[in-house]
Amino acid sequence: MANKFLQVKCKQCKNEQVIFERPANVVRCNVCDEILAVPTGAKGIIDAKVLGVMK
Ligand SMILES: [Zn+2]
Repeated sequence: MANKFLQVKCKQCKNEQVIFERPANVVRCNVCDEILAVPTGAKGIIDAKVLGVMK
């Protein structure tokens, strides 16, 4: 199962960064430390605005 990359925008500071769709760990914003994604064992919970999927 290929891990997709998502381009997301932080809700707090509008920083854009690329994260895994299925993160192994909690992913935080590089700028303001807001949580962007939480791992669940399957598809991660994305707590940010998803701008697109990168393949
Ligand atoms: Zn941020």
